[in-house]
Amino acid sequence: MNITRHIDDDHVCTLTFDRAGSSANVFDRATLEELDAHLAVIEQQAILRGVLLVSAKDKIFIAGADLHEFVRSPDPDALAAIVDLGHRVFTRLQQLHVPSVAAIHGACLGGGCELALACDWRVASTGKPTRIGLPETQLGILPAWGGSVRLPALIGLPAALGMILPGRQLVGIQARKLGLVDELAHPEYLLATARAFLERGKRPRPAFRASHLPLARHLVATKARRDVLAKTRGHYPAPLKALEVCTASLGLPLTDALALEKAAFLELIRTPECRNLLSIFFLQERAKKLPAPAGSTARPVHRVAVIGAGVMGAGIAQWTSARGLPVTLKDVAPGALAHGLHTAATLYREATQRHLLTRAEATAGLDRITPVHTAVPLASIDLVIEAAIEKLDAKQAIFRDLEARVRPDTVLASNTSALSIDSLAHNLAHPERVIGLHFFNPVHRMQLVELVRGPRTSPDTVATALQFAKAIGKLPVVVNDSPGFLVNRILMPCLVEAVRLFREGHAPGFIDRLMLDFGMPMGPLRLADEVGIDVALHVARDLAHHLPHLAPLDDTLSRMLTQKWLGKKSGTGFYLHHSGASRTKPNPDIDLLRPAHPTPGNHRDVLLNRLVLIMVNEAARCLAEDVIASPEDADFGMILGTGWAPFRGGPLRYADSLGASTVVSRLDALARDVAPHFAPCDHLREMARNHRTFYAPPPPL
Ligand code: NAD
Repeated sequence: MNITRHIDDDHVCTLTFDRAGSSANVFDRATLEELDAHLAVIEQQAILRGVLLVSAKDKIFIAGADLHEFVRSPDPDALAAIVDLGHRVFTRLQQLHVPSVAAIHGACLGGGCELALACDWRVASTGKPTRIGLPETQLGILPAWGGSVRLPALIGLPAALGMILPGRQLVGIQARKLGLVDELAHPEYLLATARAFLERGKRPRPAFRASHLPLARHLVATKARRDVLAKTRGHYPAPLKALEVCTASLGLPLTDALALEKAAFLELIRTPECRNLLSIFFLQERAKKLPAPAGSTARPVHRVAVIGAGVMGAGIAQWTSARGLPVTLKDVAPGALAHGLHTAATLYREATQRHLLTRAEATAGLDRITPVHTAVPLASIDLVIEAAIEKLDAKQAIFRDLEARVRPDTVLASNTSALSIDSLAHNLAHPERVIGLHFFNPVHRMQLVELVRGPRTSPDTVATALQFAKAIGKLPVVVNDSPGFLVNRILMPCLVEAVRLFREGHAPGFIDRLMLDFGMPMGPLRLADEVGIDVALHVARDLAHHLPHLAPLDDTLSRMLTQKWLGKKSGTGFYLHHSGASRTKPNPDIDLLRPAHPTPGNHRDVLLNRLVLIMVNEAARCLAEDVIASPEDADFGMILGTGWAPFRGGPLRYADSLGASTVVSRLDALARDVAPHFAPCDHLREMARNHRTFYAPPPPL
């Protein structure tokens, strides 16, 4: 049973959502049918004063539809039936003879939000877990249980498009401002406030909105379409379809509007984009539940030390302290320490501005960071994360010093980008407790953490690091200790290839646009500027040293270093970065770095293949060399670590969409016509020979 019904002496009926055996409420067919049955009973109760809809869960009102059900029953008739069921039940709720109020505390997303929209009134708690939104477009579909119809009618077309097209989630105060909820209440007074709304009776018909007149509607839709296309470059059909439905449904009779919504949903769910976006959702769920190695024991982590208060150390300290753990932040340079604390304070301030934390929570979080610049006792520390400079001897010295001062069971992790984890454990008495915990920059935005297992890392150390990563809300991918680990190993050859294209005479803006058009969030040369030319050069050199099949490095990056063009941090790289300027400009002197009369060659498709297939080749190598355990790991790591064109599903799903024989023949052509480093790896050749794919073919939709 998922919903209980209780009618009190005041003749108020409360429907409490409480999915058995789960911490979340979700809508599946059974829950919709249960709700339908309750509504049938309520309809017969003439003396009722109203209906309250509440959740018994701590952090979730209703988190959305059960996506597994969509994937389990992919045939169009079954999907159409579940859309119809949702439409029928929510419309029944809307048309009850008595008023209904959703008392929202916790995540109220997708189908949960659509349920709330079918109520007469919505009251949201000011509690931290409360989030309201319709994130369906992020999964390649659109809100299809009435959300695309009821939200524009409630809050107006422009505001509804602002939520639905990007799949934006709002905290209570934002939802109140838009009129999505009618009132806010402290969690303690949520029910009483919701109950008071029943006195208002059924919701009156919505007021006239000028923005819904045909001409205004057309203008709003045209602008929204332009914005979506500028953002997505036309790669994502869902926001465009949602825009069409939201706009067209205004003013239509409800049944006709819902029919539009259903047709759009059935069209979208068959698209490869939707399939790939759904697979990312499931990969995220998988990462949250990643099991510890068999027979291992995770030790609890109550206190953390971070060594190095630079870009990464400050970010890791802030993120970890915000999740409730006390952090000792150590740097040898007092100035760097002060700067690191300032960075953490800024991150906290931004989190309050974005309503992610209250001021009190931010103050408490910052107070949990203890800055130190001298040797302090570390006996209470359960996990150390080293994030000092990327130099092997410096890091080895730090680890030797740490080993002498921490408890025997303290886990020693490094945030190194590319140094071998095993080499960091060199000469330690307990190398089994050393592991890589590779966070991505910026730490507060990037969900991925590479958990790098050295050959001597113990299963308990892996289990402890895994548990810690999950506890602080990061999504881990476990990789073996090998040059560049997973993400840098696949990404860096693309960056180096982009530099080669530049040397051949192509403009940085043109090269970057090729990859933006392919669906990447940022072009490779712009990314090199963001990462720092010095860091990119260091990682590229390290990889070239260890992996002889990669392209030899030319001197472009090292000459940039000589010019002090470090990218964003120095203000100059492939582009000029002026603080405060919203757009970067090309570096006018960048041409000095290439021959006087370059000869840019190759057709656009060839250039794109050079940049993209080089990553596919490297991802296949990672799989063949057991750097990762599955193709999912490669795709998940690249999408979460670099934003790799999500609608394409990652480099290996992209390879499957082309077919191994196409990938191999294109790489062979590049090896012949451009340079030998494009030669496809043995694994890809073998797959092409045997007509294999990385993934089992998806069920037909
Ligand atoms: P950074 O130069 O910003 O900061 C390094 C800090 O370490 C400096 O403040 C320095 O004073 C301090 N330090 C040096 N020696 C120390 C010691 N012995 N004890 C304590 N502190 C010491 O560097 P960063 O960008 O934060 O990178 C830190 C680590 O994270 C590196 O290993 C880097 O490869 C890795 N990393 C960086 C990024 C990135 O994008 N910047 C991303 C992932 C991983």
